[in-house]
Amino acid sequence: MKLQFIGSGDAFGSGGRFNTCFHVTGSHINFLIDCGASSLIALKKNLINLNDIQTIFITHFHADHFGGIPFFILDSQFFSKRQKPLTIVGPNGLANWYKKVMEVSFPGSSKTKLKFEFSLVEINAGEKINIDNVVVESYQAQHGILNGPFLSYRLTAGEKVISYTGDTEWTDDLIHVGKEADIFIAEAYFFDKLIPYHLNLASIVQNLPKIKPKRLILTHMSDDMLGMLKEIKHEVAFDGMNVFI
Ligand SMILES: [Zn+2]
Ligand SMILES: [Zn+2]
Repeated sequence: MKLQFIGSGDAFGSGGRFNTCFHVTGSHINFLIDCGASSLIALKKNLINLNDIQTIFITHFHADHFGGIPFFILDSQFFSKRQKPLTIVGPNGLANWYKKVMEVSFPGSSKTKLKFEFSLVEINAGEKINIDNVVVESYQAQHGILNGPFLSYRLTAGEKVISYTGDTEWTDDLIHVGKEADIFIAEAYFFDKLIPYHLNLASIVQNLPKIKPKRLILTHMSDDMLGMLKEIKHEVAFDGMNVFI
């Protein structure tokens, strides 16, 4: 199985990085985790075959995680000429947010009759579903009170587990999200500064003995955090980085 960081940035282009998007492939799987506003550009830069992607797991509806969906869908329809089915999995309210983001980006586009089978699957925090050969467990992320819900994901494919915090302040649920995961991808917006709704590295490190991931990779870093990379002993994602599991 391979995971590629298509985008490892925050919402505001810190460090010139693309918005959040991870591409995971394996013998029976091909999916994205998040699809931020700049993700179609980043996917094309990495020469990803878009039509092979079966599923897109969305953690929340902020544009740096969800804003790439209209570009992806319309590219699939008109340029990549997708024929294979596509499923988007996301928090409760996904169907409504999908319509909104399509209409805001390209008015009228939510009514386009797609030439491929397309499904929107909503998942609640605490739910576990099996989709396109991936077992998805979702947990409540703590990322504010507006425009939620916000989720963290624990994804199991075959024997391997990939966990992703999404955007969230520290919550003990993250111990379950990342528990002994093969890869635990964690937001590390700041080094040790505590701010609401986002994670800092200190909170993750403090809880690592309880989480015990096999590999921790940091992402979604602010300019402050990127300026401290020399002092950081943990593995840090970069755009285009490949991880083999
Ligand atoms: Zn974000
Ligand atoms: Zn967010």
